[in-house]
Amino acid sequence: MTTEPTPFDAGLTRLQQPILPLVRLVFLLFLTGPFEHLEELFAELPEEIEVGPTVYRNPAALLDPYLDLLRDLETVRDPAPAKQILLDKTGQPIDGLEALEAWIGQQILTRELETINSLLCRPCGCALCCVGPEDGMRQDFFEIPLQASELSQFALPRIDTDTSRITTALDNPALACQATEATLYHWQTGWSLILPRLSTCPHLTTLACRIYPERPEVCRRPQIFAYILERDRQEDLDTLPAYAVRNTVLAIWDCPYVQRFKAEIAAYAELCGLEPVFKENKG
Ligand code: SF4
Ligand code: SF4
Repeated sequence: MTTEPTPFDAGLTRLQQPILPLVRLVFLLFLTGPFEHLEELFAELPEEIEVGPTVYRNPAALLDPYLDLLRDLETVRDPAPAKQILLDKTGQPIDGLEALEAWIGQQILTRELETINSLLCRPCGCALCCVGPEDGMRQDFFEIPLQASELSQFALPRIDTDTSRITTALDNPALACQATEATLYHWQTGWSLILPRLSTCPHLTTLACRIYPERPEVCRRPQIFAYILERDRQEDLDTLPAYAVRNTVLAIWDCPYVQRFKAEIAAYAELCGLEPVFKENKG
């Protein structure tokens, strides 16, 4: 029986063939082989590789978009000082290969999910991520964290005071609720766009995001998140940022494609050897 194509097919196809199992195989081959650079290994890959139930055709081409993220693997025999601290589930530091695999895996999964989320979001015709809370929702505002370099995309009022810079939106909701329209805030943790109740992001049009190709990083990544590692600021050591190992894929239940494709997202996480976690965020 043939099934009708749907606008979600490209995203679903990517969910069915996660890159992480292939990346893990590359790890193994690189560590046990005579390779100095990844290109040498890629050149020796066969046209087809089977990992568990997944068949990867032209694996070198599939891996190529992640080559820059895999480069750290080339330093494994002569490691540089760590740029971050990784902690296991009991809070103990991990290092060496285990830490390298978790770090590279997190970066690769994040990039892959950015593509998958974009492919699944577009056909939904939904703008939940781009508006403040509706009447009846328990929250008074939603927060969109921004990089300092992204601020110039938003010609909006700014709150950047001694008070805002020593607190966060969650710790000081009264300050975050001071805004009645979309506003940029400078918090202790950095900048964010606060969308108060019934407000909208200034870039949202009736059709879509006006700056879609250049939209902020955080707008590219909802609502299936890579959580092999989670940032843990409380454990930062001097200038080294800390991350806790979670080994999960987090999907936010408010999103229509997460609800619709729950089984496919769970299967994706399991193929990656990660636990799928579904969580409600808004409402
Ligand atoms: S920048 Fe675009 S994607 Fe991000 S919140 Fe605004 S409208 Fe939505
Ligand atoms: S909730 Fe989901 S479908 Fe709606 S805008 Fe956000 S990512 Fe897209």
